[in-house]
Amino acid sequence: MFSARDITLFGSNALFFAIAAALYLYPEWALILFPAASLLYFWSDLRKDDELQVIFMFLCTAGALLLMSQMKDLPSRVALGVELVGVWVASLGLSFHRARLKEARAAANQYAQQVDTRVRELERDLKFYGAFESAAAHQIRLRRDLTGAAKTLTGTMDAKDAQGRLLSVLERRFQGSRVRILPGEPPDSLTRLSITTHASVLVKDMATDERFRNQAWNFRAAVVSPLSVVKKTFGFSADALRTADLFATLTSLTLENIEFYQAVGDLATHDPLTKLFTHKAFQTRLADEVLRAGRSQAPLSMVMCDVDHFKKYNDTYGHQAGDFLLQRVAQILSDSARPVDFVARYGGEEFAIVLPGMAHPQAVEFANRIRIKVMEEPFVFEGKHTRVTQSYGVSTFPQDATTPSQLVRAADERLYKAKEGGRNQVVG
Ligand code: GH3
Ligand code: MG
Ligand code: MG
Repeated sequence: MFSARDITLFGSNALFFAIAAALYLYPEWALILFPAASLLYFWSDLRKDDELQVIFMFLCTAGALLLMSQMKDLPSRVALGVELVGVWVASLGLSFHRARLKEARAAANQYAQQVDTRVRELERDLKFYGAFESAAAHQIRLRRDLTGAAKTLTGTMDAKDAQGRLLSVLERRFQGSRVRILPGEPPDSLTRLSITTHASVLVKDMATDERFRNQAWNFRAAVVSPLSVVKKTFGFSADALRTADLFATLTSLTLENIEFYQAVGDLATHDPLTKLFTHKAFQTRLADEVLRAGRSQAPLSMVMCDVDHFKKYNDTYGHQAGDFLLQRVAQILSDSARPVDFVARYGGEEFAIVLPGMAHPQAVEFANRIRIKVMEEPFVFEGKHTRVTQSYGVSTFPQDATTPSQLVRAADERLYKAKEGGRNQVVG
């Protein structure tokens, strides 16, 4: 009914009253009370009991004051007063420490809780990835098996040999199952169903399946697939084994892989908005072309261009219109370039074009042609006709620069000059 703490509190309160009453009756007991209460105070601190501490501190102070009132001489009073102050200072020090300790413990607890939550999250993630991994492993195994099977099955032109290969492939794939090839007339209703419908039949439980349960079967579950040949339904050739299913699966897997690798490759080399090459692809290509130009002694030019006042364009028509404009400008650049040229999105609204084999005057001319096309293009977005211009910088290897980075810098500096000179112009 009462906890140990209740009893302690009740007991100490009773003690408190008893001592108060005794002190009232016998004030000289204060001599014992003061040190006793001090000791009890420190003991309660050890027990980390706040309420007891308050009680004992009060008793200790009361005892000291009572004692002081009884003392006749000043030095003794002062000495006792100093002692009392000492006890108070010690008590404040202790409670300060306790508070610090409590704070540290709370912080540690909170941290432990955070760690715990994180661990639980990680465990959940791990479980998810575990499931994902096993699903992926299953897919990989299946794909490997199918590829292996296709190789095995297509590796022969001999019908008998092909039958044997098919059996061993299936036995390996469906371990623990009985695999048979049934040529000729279908021996039972199950096989007949598969043959007449030209489809695989899966029966999970022969005993409960409506279609087959009126017969006795010496197996529990079955998969029957028809091996159809071009003319005859029964009989075998190596061709028959290249079942449409298998090939459809293998073909779709191959296409899937090709698509996947292309998508990953595209992400690195193509800008998703404009479909132009990325900055990184541009750097790689420019380096290649500079090397090639150096070897072949052929000129190599590059054009850098930047949409004029594009920030204002965005502010006026919105970012979507801005995106659309970038796509259209990219299209104009691509359409104007030769198949050997390399058009890239260099940055936000900045484009770069590598022009292999093109000398400086032709490159400037080329840039001017694009400038006019862009200037004259009515960019129509959501029914609104808008106009835009670009500034251009042209540089040529080897007269302006002999390294890729110098070539870019030269083009960039000229582009800057074109901007300073009033925009909508080519500086070569
Ligand atoms: P300047 O004639 O000197 O080139 O002026 P500017 O306003 O074109 O040049 P600035 O570099 O100040 O602004 C470029 C703007 O291009 C700022 C940015 O919001 C915008 N921008 C960059 N990338 C994209 C993008 O992919 N889509 C859209 N809509 N805006 C873009
Ligand atoms: Mg700009
Ligand atoms: Mg810019």
